[in-house]
Amino acid sequence: MSQPLTLTHWIGGVRREGPVARERRNPSNLDEVVAVAPEAAAVLVDEAVAAAAAAQPAWAEASPEARSDILDRAGAILFEEREAVGRLLAREEGKTLPEAIGEAARAARILKFFAGEALRRTGMTVDSVRPGVDAATYRQAVGVFGLITPWNFPIAIPAWKTAPALAFGNAVVLKPSELTPALADVLAQVLGRAGLPAGVFNLVQGAGATGAALVGHRGVQGVSFTGSQATGSAIAAETVRRQARLQMEMGGKNPLVVLADADLDLAVRCALDGAFFASGQRCTASSRIIVEARIHDAFLERLAEAMRSLTVGDALDPATRIGPLASQAQYDKVRGYLEIAAGEGAELLSGPEPATTARGWFQPPVLLAGATGAMRTSREEIFGPVGSVLRASDYDEALTLANAGDVGLSAGIVTDSLSKARHFQRHVRTGMVMVNLATAGVDYHVPFGGVAGSSYGPREQGQAAIEFYTQLKTAYVAGS
Ligand code: ADP
Repeated sequence: MSQPLTLTHWIGGVRREGPVARERRNPSNLDEVVAVAPEAAAVLVDEAVAAAAAAQPAWAEASPEARSDILDRAGAILFEEREAVGRLLAREEGKTLPEAIGEAARAARILKFFAGEALRRTGMTVDSVRPGVDAATYRQAVGVFGLITPWNFPIAIPAWKTAPALAFGNAVVLKPSELTPALADVLAQVLGRAGLPAGVFNLVQGAGATGAALVGHRGVQGVSFTGSQATGSAIAAETVRRQARLQMEMGGKNPLVVLADADLDLAVRCALDGAFFASGQRCTASSRIIVEARIHDAFLERLAEAMRSLTVGDALDPATRIGPLASQAQYDKVRGYLEIAAGEGAELLSGPEPATTARGWFQPPVLLAGATGAMRTSREEIFGPVGSVLRASDYDEALTLANAGDVGLSAGIVTDSLSKARHFQRHVRTGMVMVNLATAGVDYHVPFGGVAGSSYGPREQGQAAIEFYTQLKTAYVAGS
């Protein structure tokens, strides 16, 4: 067992301690304290915003090459150290070691992608309607961004908000989840080691009150948030009130449609990955598996059998395929939904018991067979290793079921039919759609986001990120 890390805030390039400490325990072993983190009061948030505001103009005026080089170096450092970072991530958040190393590598690649984007802050020239006048647009940095991130991707999400903000000349104050302070600290350290000027990136540790102080701060020109609907509503009200920029990502209830002509082995792999990997704690998890009636029973049998072979256990054990849930709150929420499902008439098919006797938030995977669209467990995000299996008489009914509800992040279809795949791609009401792939697992260099209640504001990631993290200026020049 390693010694607990004693964490700090990072303000103006230096560590700041205190005041109140919060313990983070390993969800695979509650006897192990992974880190102790402080809690920033509003006055410390003021200091962080002031440090960011002071550093931002010089950063924006620096050559894009300077910004690119630093992001590239940060990406290289993180990639080099991905195994150690992944180990810490597995201990702090609970995803399995391969998943955790993969996330650290992904965060590194995001930094490298935006190192390239820093050189592509382009505008356009337009023929003016007035003879002798030149018209052009160009993009400028916005100022200081407040970033509020969740625990389920504790380094990838901070990286995918921070990297574009910095690439385009902004400064940042990050408020990570109180459940994963250590991975945010890793990002701060890596950026510092890469040579980022003091104050361009600041980190304030703490829970909701710290986040609210940041969101409400008049020195913060834009807020990017990933988390729950309830918190998102509060953040939206506050940012709109003071006319700050806003971008939000808030979960989904993602459907995976399996048609009768599907390759069933492939469909089982997609469903297992989407519903259960990362313990189902991904916004893009497949929580509704909608199966065409003709193959429903055969598919369910194969899926249940495959699910029973998934070892549940300590995130660091190489045999583990499903790590623990991240916290007691998550565990209680998932158990509550399983009771609701049983009460609503679903049949609970459970995977294996944990292969460890350690005290942890272990939850075996569960399929909710015989689920209907009306059940609460088919409509509300559970965020655990739980997949509802719904029967659809044909493709049309499957599409109707897939489009039910008021969120729409990711959807998938497994089929051999090109025409149905194309129809689904065009008509499913989500921001991302997968054909013969799991609903979860996205690239780092293309836009990420949903429709309806899943997302708000411009898209994150890829080339789309420039929209949120820059503002346009239109210039007119009269010649002779
Ligand atoms: P979850 O329930 O999945 O943890 P939350 O929306 O509660 O999702 O948390 C996501 C992030 O939002 C975390 O960093 C959390 O501390 C932060 N947060 C919670 N409440 C507020 C709030 N009122 N204002 C700003 N940030 C908040």
